[in-house]
Amino acid sequence: MKPAAFRYHAPGTIEEAVAMLAQYAPDDGRVLAGGQSLVPTMAFRLARPHHLVDINGIADLRRLASENGRLAIGAGVRHQAFHRPVVAGPLGDLLAAVMRHIAHYPIRTRGTFCGSVAHADPASEWCLVAATLGAEMVARSARGTRIIEAADYFQGIMTTALEPDELLAEVRLPLLPADTRTGFYEFNRRAGDFAMGMALVTFRIADGVMIEPHVGVGGAETHPRRIAAAEALLAGRAPGDASFRAAAAAASAAIDPLTDHQTNAEYRRDLVATVTRRALEQAAHT
Ligand SMILES: Cc1cc2nc3c(=O)[nH]c(=O)nc-3n(C[C@H](O)[C@H](O)[C@H](O)COP(=O)(O)OP(=O)(O)OC[C@H]3O[C@@H](n4cnc5c(N)ncnc54)[C@H](O)[C@@H]3O)c2cc1C
Repeated sequence: MKPAAFRYHAPGTIEEAVAMLAQYAPDDGRVLAGGQSLVPTMAFRLARPHHLVDINGIADLRRLASENGRLAIGAGVRHQAFHRPVVAGPLGDLLAAVMRHIAHYPIRTRGTFCGSVAHADPASEWCLVAATLGAEMVARSARGTRIIEAADYFQGIMTTALEPDELLAEVRLPLLPADTRTGFYEFNRRAGDFAMGMALVTFRIADGVMIEPHVGVGGAETHPRRIAAAEALLAGRAPGDASFRAAAAAASAAIDPLTDHQTNAEYRRDLVATVTRRALEQAAHT
């Protein structure tokens, strides 16, 4: 099927883009980034936007820079930019490892990091990264710029704190200290499919015990999030099978799992214990 008719707009600057969004968002105007989620839904006529504001011609959005202790990822940066570490240290290595789980190569050459975070599919790997590491989302509109913290940003299935006239101009991830251990584990039936469950963990070790643990779960609930109950069982404890199993069980108990076309809630709850434990084991060996 072909998409329903729409008007196409191609701004050359961020200012032009947000002015267009101010004008067209009330008439179902949308940002077009990589098009890897939006265009298929238009082709199936599940989405029928009246206006598309194509941000691909805006050079300022292709910024990928490490500054003030953060990695700034502009809205034009595509998944494929992360094939190799974009920054020295654990964050660059983690992003390269996670990126390999996103879709297939041709999709990664078009789809964007910020597009994934704006789209907010529950099983998006970049959303899990943003939620677990505590990203800052930089939203631009004709009304100005605001920063949205990850804990306030993700609100439900494909639902975020972004307003319809806001452009997610940049996502900023904290650069991880050099001794940060990281682990990511995802389960799906076929490579490239959306995750049925995944976990991302980070921690450091001081005096033989884990400090600053972050445990994030994605693909299992309406949106990815950190699981405080699991983190509490890691902080101050030695890394190992006992603490990892306890944290994994806490993560499994804490979630409100989705049932969808892939599987049911009971399976997902069980899966979350497994992916969390495996991510922790991986982190222990980095
Ligand atoms: C077969 C297939 C498999 C896939 N598998 C995976 C997978 O395993 N994991 C995964 O995470 N993704 C997967 N995807 C989705 C892919 O990663 C998309 O690239 C991503 O979801 C959206 O990014 P995009 O740049 O293509 O956004 P678009 O498709 O252009 O836009 C998506 C939505 O976000 C909005 N939007 C985009 N950018 C912005 C912005 N900067 N500010 C405000 N709103 C914006 C658009 O208006 C639209 O509503 C898959 C896609 C396909 C087709």
